[in-house]
Amino acid sequence: LPYQPAADRYEQMQYRYCGKSGLQLPEISLGLWHNFGHNADLTLGRKILRRAFDLGICHFDLANNYGPPFGSAEENFGRILKKDFLPYRDELLISSKAGWDMWPGPYGNFGSRKYLIASCDQSLKRMGLDYVDIFYHHRPDPNTPLEETMGALDQLVRQGKALYVGISQYSAEDTAKAYDILKSLGTPLLIHQPRYSMLDRWVENGLLDVLGQKGIGSIAFSPLEQGMLTDKYLKGIPADSRAAKDGRYLKPESLAPEKLQIIGKLNELALKRGQSLAQMAIAWLLKDPRITSVLIGVSKPEQLDDNVASVHNSTFSSEEINQIKTILKA
Ligand code: NDP
Repeated sequence: LPYQPAADRYEQMQYRYCGKSGLQLPEISLGLWHNFGHNADLTLGRKILRRAFDLGICHFDLANNYGPPFGSAEENFGRILKKDFLPYRDELLISSKAGWDMWPGPYGNFGSRKYLIASCDQSLKRMGLDYVDIFYHHRPDPNTPLEETMGALDQLVRQGKALYVGISQYSAEDTAKAYDILKSLGTPLLIHQPRYSMLDRWVENGLLDVLGQKGIGSIAFSPLEQGMLTDKYLKGIPADSRAAKDGRYLKPESLAPEKLQIIGKLNELALKRGQSLAQMAIAWLLKDPRITSVLIGVSKPEQLDDNVASVHNSTFSSEEINQIKTILKA
């Protein structure tokens, strides 16, 4: 049967303007870094994407190297898009990126114009798209002039291959420079994609101020610290969790007793608020208006339901904010 998205999908979610642009993002977006490579169950992947869209999550985030192997998440996304989502292309915001290791030799990594243009072309082919909505430089490259990298992003917009551009993992200082260069070229810097969670708050040290001053939007990645900011690891490492299945990024060693103690305290506070820790961790990020969207991953459709319910309980009393501060300082 052809996929029929839920008629009430846009009532499930709230949307925020991305900085000073006219583009709105769902408060919760879905990333395909994990669970969409050639090692994944695609029947499940298809269910996840359908459930996400049914919940009003109209933004899917990819990158050239998501998999494994590199490129496979885009390929698989392209297959599912063709089966289920092509009639809804104009309701979807699809992003990709280049900046990390992708193919051998000097043109398959970092920030040259040569790499970014070729990689964007490859991503479009893999996904079966004419354009991406947002194209990102995935990480700063200290050896390429920022003018060249930003020039490549501007070129992609002029070629019609990307509607908007963004940067990821850039420092506050480089973000301000990138903004100025793009502005001089006539292409606004739409968005920054930084890592941001209760357990990793580096953006509070200058970056959020730059984003707020310049009117650049932001989408926070790994908001659940890859699953640590849920109740799943409080009683050991479940066999179907990322820490057990895929030791590349979330290593069991990162679940140190001191960290688990903090997570346990946060979990108690979340329960007092009548929500799950995942929900509280998402709501806590969204309390800052400079955060446009929170970019989650999920391994099961049910996790989407849990996470999206955070929008129903998203305000904090000043006492709760202080309690969280105290817990995080420990
Ligand atoms: P999260 O911090 O949201 O972690 C997602 C993982 O947490 C899930 O795969 C699942 O893992 C677990 N989880 C999610 N919800 C729940 C829940 N309700 N209850 C229990 N467990 C839950 O984000 P990711 O680290 O996956 O990153 C999200 C996206 O951010 C990526 O897909 C990518 O698009 C982007 N990203 C960007 C980067 C960049 O450099 N720009 C770098 C990294 C990510 P499991 O069930 O398997 O344990």
